[in-house]
Amino acid sequence: MIWKVNICLCITFACWLRYLGVGGVGSVTAEMLTRCGIGKLLLFDYDKVELANMNRLFFQPHQAGLSKVEAAEHTLRNINPDVSFETHNYNITTMENFTHFMDRISHGGLEEGKPVDLVLSCVDNFEARMAINQACNELGQIWMESGVSENAVSGHIQLIIPGETACFACAPPLVVAANIDEKTLKREGVCAASLPTTMGVVAGILVQNVLKYLLKFGTVSYYLGYNAMQDFFPTMAMKPNPQCNDRHCRRQQEEYKKKEAERPTVEVVQEEEDVVHEDNEWGIELVSEVTDAELQAASGPVPDLPEGITVAFTIPSEVTDGDTVEETEQSLEELMAQMKKL
Ligand SMILES: [Zn+2]
Repeated sequence: MIWKVNICLCITFACWLRYLGVGGVGSVTAEMLTRCGIGKLLLFDYDKVELANMNRLFFQPHQAGLSKVEAAEHTLRNINPDVSFETHNYNITTMENFTHFMDRISHGGLEEGKPVDLVLSCVDNFEARMAINQACNELGQIWMESGVSENAVSGHIQLIIPGETACFACAPPLVVAANIDEKTLKREGVCAASLPTTMGVVAGILVQNVLKYLLKFGTVSYYLGYNAMQDFFPTMAMKPNPQCNDRHCRRQQEEYKKKEAERPTVEVVQEEEDVVHEDNEWGIELVSEVTDAELQAASGPVPDLPEGITVAFTIPSEVTDGDTVEETEQSLEELMAQMKKL
């Protein structure tokens, strides 16, 4: 079954995407996309597989010590050898790596030299998110952000179209607003909780929206939250902030506004429909399927009925005259015996 789906998607999916962070959400996302037969995946991560992370999905104990991108590529290639993989075992937030990262976004497509279709962020810190945000704003690259809270019981996905929707810096999170180092926020020796369930749900809704976006079906969510405590899925759309700190975001906003203004306005003419029936607010009217003449011809005698009662149907007179079967004196057994003889 899986392979049938792969072949089908491979044909329609001449796409590729760049994808970051092969952690709890990222690894599952990569596996789903591989099984769907995505054209090419570019993986970026600098972590190693740890035995302590085995409560998450995807990686296995024998892979402990391997780099996450190396282990992921090996597993994914075995699942679907038709997918192309490009892996980078580095931290995208350093100056040198960031330049290389930007270059691969704009040139690492399925056809070398072309940009990727979509960037997915599955990272667990603001610094990396801000780096992805900066790169995508500069390049005008559409991307999807995902995350799971530190208490492991909520998560979200967000579609970011530079200039059109709010970027990650438009509505700054606490650490950016306060301009403090997020590492100081983490308590020493306390590891963030993680649940494979929440990560699986977030990866599922992320890939679902990736498929909808790339294959152009359904409605892609701008923001979809997941609150595991109440099983609540809030959605919303955020406009970009004209005073965003990222100058490339402000530039993209100007470009988007210009593009929107140049677009020919299509006037939607709404034709007023005639009211069929005034008596009810929905304009519903019951119409008979037979004409009055047909009804008259097919009608039989109407019995005497008290006022206010009418017949639903009558027996046409020809039927009552011609088709009546004569009563017989014979018993049922006799009739059956007669039939057998025929
Ligand atoms: Zn912005």
